[in-house]
Amino acid sequence: MAINTASDQSLIALFGGTFDPIHFGHLRPVEQLAKETLLDQVILLPNNVPPHRPQPQASAQQRLKMAELAVEGNPLFSVDPRELAVDNPSYTLVTLETLRKEHGAQRPLAFIIGQDSLLSLHTWHRWEELLDFCHLLVMARPGYSERLDTPELQRWYDKHRVSTPAALKQRPCGVIYQANTPLLDISATQIRQRLREGKSCATLLPTAVERYIESQGLYLV
Ligand code: ATP
Repeated sequence: MAINTASDQSLIALFGGTFDPIHFGHLRPVEQLAKETLLDQVILLPNNVPPHRPQPQASAQQRLKMAELAVEGNPLFSVDPRELAVDNPSYTLVTLETLRKEHGAQRPLAFIIGQDSLLSLHTWHRWEELLDFCHLLVMARPGYSERLDTPELQRWYDKHRVSTPAALKQRPCGVIYQANTPLLDISATQIRQRLREGKSCATLLPTAVERYIESQGLYLV
């Protein structure tokens, strides 16, 4: 693995999700993570959900729009619609391969996931190769175990984990950093249920997203 000698390498992080809808449980921990790890840019990647999986309630275009509204005017974030532009299900690894080519071999790239996603990482397509393309930044999530399910995943995690964020800018990929982000007990499932029940979600997601949901009549059933 190449070690960067330049200390001013900017660190770009990708954050994939269904975002059905995007909420403060996504945004607030990532903002904190950006301060903690000196992230320069976070690219939101709304996923295409494979046909055999439960489908999002909002359409791809609506999920994209909500992500855009959520980060409008916030220079830390941008939204990349590439996974929605293809008909195939999104494979994180394939997107990372493409992004690695676009950014070159030396640019530090990271992929952000919540603890629940870490627990199921060994079910992802070619998961053992993820660290060949990026670092992994893991955000704690209330209700999810710190212990990993399989000995194989635990060994892989222990082998690559670093305790300080400095390593993230010193090399382009290859390490796992467990972030000290705030625990926010918010999920899209909970938001969809509250909206179905006619309850307010004002403290759970940005106002612009809440207004858009209302204008589109989303999540009423
Ligand atoms: P759903 O409830 O529909 O399953 P979700 O709220 O988990 O959705 P996703 O779009 O599936 O949201 O999540 C995208 C990424 O954000 C995943 O890596 C997930 O682990 C992470 N994430 C979601 N909510 C939180 C949260 N409250 N704290 C930390 N990470 C989160």
